[in-house]
Amino acid sequence: MSVPEPIRNPEIKYTQLFINNEFVNSGSGKTFPTINPATGEKISDVQEGDKADIEKAVAAAKEAFKLGSTWRRMDASKRGKLLRSLARLIERDAVYLGSLETLDNGKPYKQAFGEMFFSSSVIDYYAGWADKIQGKTIPIDGDFFCYTRHEPVGICGAIIPWNYPVPMFVWKIAPALAAGNVVVIKPAEQTPLTALYVGALIKEAGFPPGVVNIVPGYGPTAGAAISNNMDINKVAFTGSTEIGQLVMQAAAGTNLKRTTLELGGKSPNIIFADADLDMAVAASHEAVMTNMGQCCIAGSRTFVQEDIYDKFVERSIQKAQQRKVGDPYDQSTQHGPQVDEEQFNKILELIESGKKEGASLKTGGGRQGDKGYFIQPTVFADVQDNMRIAKEEVIFINIYYCFMVNCYNVVNAQAPFGGYKMSGLGRELGEYGMQQYIEVKNVVIKIPQKNS
Ligand code: ADP
Repeated sequence: MSVPEPIRNPEIKYTQLFINNEFVNSGSGKTFPTINPATGEKISDVQEGDKADIEKAVAAAKEAFKLGSTWRRMDASKRGKLLRSLARLIERDAVYLGSLETLDNGKPYKQAFGEMFFSSSVIDYYAGWADKIQGKTIPIDGDFFCYTRHEPVGICGAIIPWNYPVPMFVWKIAPALAAGNVVVIKPAEQTPLTALYVGALIKEAGFPPGVVNIVPGYGPTAGAAISNNMDINKVAFTGSTEIGQLVMQAAAGTNLKRTTLELGGKSPNIIFADADLDMAVAASHEAVMTNMGQCCIAGSRTFVQEDIYDKFVERSIQKAQQRKVGDPYDQSTQHGPQVDEEQFNKILELIESGKKEGASLKTGGGRQGDKGYFIQPTVFADVQDNMRIAKEEVIFINIYYCFMVNCYNVVNAQAPFGGYKMSGLGRELGEYGMQQYIEVKNVVIKIPQKNS
């Protein structure tokens, strides 16, 4: 796809909470700054939501979901139409949204632009589901008529990270809305701007007030208020394992809200000696470097069969050195800054630990330039399993996954995504992702006499 030129200074249109289809200030009036990671400078102040604002958003969602409401009475096919309208609006504004994402997150504009189309594909996929969510009739014993109804779960809370702000946003809202739910979502504090703009598009698409509510704010306040809320029926979380555990504890300790979690890991790539070396090096490089390594499924450990180890390392060094780091608005840039100072410091500290623990630093290892949060593409060799760089999440979330063979980073709307063990609970995307937003009600009706 040819990528139009970015808008280098995108206007910041929305910095308030989005509740009931209106942009409003937080109850406390507090704000927090959002920072351009390419410069370290403030972009703007954003209204900071906390518990009271989450409660206000939940009240709006509850009203939108009550029996007889516009949303509850809407034809399923119309829900699909609204979702498709939203997808088209995201595509219409992809240059602006991509430019805004680059400003707020630091990712290369070309990638950010592409993410808007990935996001619209996810919305289109779930739009198709809206009028295809159906129950079954079940031939139970006795004189009964038995059927299932697939109903929306109700008020869905969502807490999302900063690495793919718009895709993460739509992964949560699209299946929820297709199934007829209402949503209260908290974007990550590092990247609130694109989510708020999508809020305006949700209104423009024609969703009734209160169906989607967006509350920017911090995790321990606004985030925890979602996982502890007694009226929220489901929470979907993407982020670190530590916080995922807190979310699940809160869900269990309050109203047993259904919980889905996409958490941390340390995904390995395994390269055998008979692999096409060029392809294997290129795929492993992209697996770990894409999105500055801030990728849910980053291949942050590479295991290489001994026979080709030296050659593989040598080629990986070349690749890392050729990677173009710099101005994320420049379309030839492959690598922007890390998302914030915290991640930047965390990664530099981990690189130091790798050196101290005896791994060989082959290239990179330091800051790039003197402003913003840029880190040189880094390759370590001779890494042992017990070293911190082999165990700790270099970035923050990497998910142990199904498996990908002879490829990497292949994520599509149609196929499920999620982790095993402490890397997650439940699946997103595809039909499996849809099921997380549906309650199955079994209905049994006594009848005088059944016939086969
Ligand atoms: P990271 O360390 O990469 O920021 P986190 O797991 O801390 O990953 O954050 C992912 C999301 O979880 C963000 O939206 C963040 O605000 C939110 N969050 C952080 N702490 C909590 C918490 N105690 N309860 C609920 N959400 C939280």
